[in-house]
Amino acid sequence: MARGGDARGTDRPDPTDWVTRAADDAIRHAGGEDAVRAEGRTITCASGASPSGPVHLGNLREFLTVHFVAEEIRRRGLPVRHLHSWDDYDRFRKVPAGVDPSWADHIGRPLSAVPDPWECHASWAEHFKEPLVASLRAMGVEMEEVSQTEAYRRGDYVEQVLQAVAHRDRIETILGRYRTKAAPVAESEQEAAALADSVLEDDEATGAGDGNGSGDLARFPYKPYCRGCGRDTTTATAYDDESADLAYTCTSCGFEGVTNLRTDHEGKLVWKVDWPMRWSVEGVDFEPGGVDHASPGSSYTVGKEVVKAVYGARAPSFVGYSFVGAGGQVKMSSSRGGVPTAADALKILEAPVLRWLYVRRQPKQAFNVDFGPEVVRLYDEWDSLTRKAADPAKRDAQVLAYERASSTAAAGTLPTPPVVVPFRLLSSVADVTAGSAELVSRIVGDVGHEHDSVADLEPRLSRAMTWMSEYVPETERTTVRSEPDTARLAALDEDEELWLRQLLDRMPDRLELDETTALIYGVPKLARGLGLDDAPTDEVKADQKAFFRLLYELLVDAERGPRLPTLFLALGAEKVRSLLTP
Ligand SMILES: [Zn+2]
Ligand SMILES: [Zn+2]
Repeated sequence: MARGGDARGTDRPDPTDWVTRAADDAIRHAGGEDAVRAEGRTITCASGASPSGPVHLGNLREFLTVHFVAEEIRRRGLPVRHLHSWDDYDRFRKVPAGVDPSWADHIGRPLSAVPDPWECHASWAEHFKEPLVASLRAMGVEMEEVSQTEAYRRGDYVEQVLQAVAHRDRIETILGRYRTKAAPVAESEQEAAALADSVLEDDEATGAGDGNGSGDLARFPYKPYCRGCGRDTTTATAYDDESADLAYTCTSCGFEGVTNLRTDHEGKLVWKVDWPMRWSVEGVDFEPGGVDHASPGSSYTVGKEVVKAVYGARAPSFVGYSFVGAGGQVKMSSSRGGVPTAADALKILEAPVLRWLYVRRQPKQAFNVDFGPEVVRLYDEWDSLTRKAADPAKRDAQVLAYERASSTAAAGTLPTPPVVVPFRLLSSVADVTAGSAELVSRIVGDVGHEHDSVADLEPRLSRAMTWMSEYVPETERTTVRSEPDTARLAALDEDEELWLRQLLDRMPDRLELDETTALIYGVPKLARGLGLDDAPTDEVKADQKAFFRLLYELLVDAERGPRLPTLFLALGAEKVRSLLTP
C-alpha cells in the first residue's frame, strides 16, 4: 500500500540521499531556510531543454532531477517552483533522417520558426514539446514553462543583453582563458571528449568558425536572426554602444541591416552567456546539467564566472548527471533518431516505477532503462519494495526513494493497480492467451488473484500486454499448438504414456491453481508408486524434468515456456486434453 507524500514529514533526512543533499544546497543558495521564510522568497529549481528532437530517456533526467529536488523542498514546507526553460529560440542545426531533405533550408532558424514536417503542430519545437509535457504530467511532474522564443521576443532580457554586450571584453577574457586551457589538460578519454565538445561549443556559439567579423566584433556575445531570411548566419559589422544599433550582414541571403538591441528583440545571447544570464534573471538556486557541462571550460564552469563578472550574481548549486541509456545502449545522443522516449517507457512501466529508476540512483551513476526481460525483474523488485514500504518499522534510504517515486505533493499517490498481480504472471498469461484484457483478467482470477474487474489490474495489465506484444521478440513468445502433435503422440515411450494417462484421468474439467500444480508435479510420483503429497525422490525429480519437457513439447512446441500450472489454466482443461490425448 503506497502512502501519501506527507507521511514522512518528520523523518530525519538521510545523508546518503542525493535529493536531500541537493535540496539542502538549493536552500543554502537561497540564503537558508530562515531567510527564505522571513523574506517570503520562492526557491527556484530550474531545468532547460532544447526541443530539437524526441526528448529521450537521457534528457528526461534533466527534468526529473529538478522535480525530485523541488518536491523535497516543497515537503519541507518552503515555497519552491520548478522553472523549465524551453530553448526553442536555439537554431535548427540539422535535418534528421526521415525528414524531407528540403528542411535543410531551415538550418539556422529558431526551432520555433521551423515548420512541423509532420504537420500536427505549429512548429518543429512544439512537435517535440507536447509529447514530453504529456508524459511528464502522467508522471506527476508540474513545472512553470518558459519559452525562450517568447521571452527574448518580448524583450524580457533587454537589460541583461545590453549588460552582456557592454561587458563583452570581460566575457571574451573569461571564454578565452578556458579556450587556451582546454587543449592539454584531458586526463581521460571521456574528459578529452567533453573538452573537445566544449571547445566546439565555444567556437560555434561565438561564430569563431565563420571566419568573418573583426576586432572586438569577432566574438560578439549576441547573435541576431537575419531580418531577410530568419537564419542566424549573421556577422556583426558595427556596434554603437550609445544607440545599441548593431549592424550585420547575412552570409545566407546577403541581407545587410541594423537591429537595435534595445527595441528590436531579434536575436539572442550566445549559449555560454545566455545560460548565466537566465540564472541571474530568474534567481536560479539549483540547476542540474549533464556531467559534460561541469568539466573544465564547459558551460557551467564558464557561466559561473560570467554570471559573477557581468551580472554580479552567484551561479546556482549544481548537480551533474550521467547518461541514461535504453536496453544495452549506454550513451544516447539527442541528435539520433529512433531512441526511446518517456512516452515509450510509460507504455510498459507504471509512472512510479519509471520515476523510481531515476530517483534511486546518484545522478552521477549512468544506467539503462531496459525494455527486455529486465522489465519482469524490475517489477518484482518494485513489488517487494512496495511491501517493505508498507511496514513502518522498515524505514531506510530505499523506502525513502520508494516514497519519492510513488507520490508527489500536488498529485498525491500516483496511479498503481488496486490489485497488485506480478507483472511476470500478467505478461505470461497475456502471452499464452494472446487474448483480450477480459480473458487475462479471468485467468488471473482463477490462479488466485481475486479482483472485481479489469480496472482493478490497471494500469499494470495493459502495460504487460503491450510489453508482450511489442517488446518480446516473436521467437521468445509462446505459441500454443492449434492441432495435437500426432507423430509425437504416436511415438510415446512407456513412461510417457503412463504419465499422460494418469494426468488426464485425474484432471478435472474446471482447473484450480493449487490442485493443478499438485497434479502436474505429482504425476511422476504416482508413476513410481508414491502419493501426490509425498516428497520427490531423486528419480522422481528426473522424471518430473522429462515430463515437463514432454508437456511443453506437446502443448507449445518448445522446450520450455510459462509455468505449467499457469499454462494449463490459461488453456483450459478441454484444450489441454485435446493436445495431450493420443
Ligand atoms: Zn507535430
Ligand atoms: Zn539572411
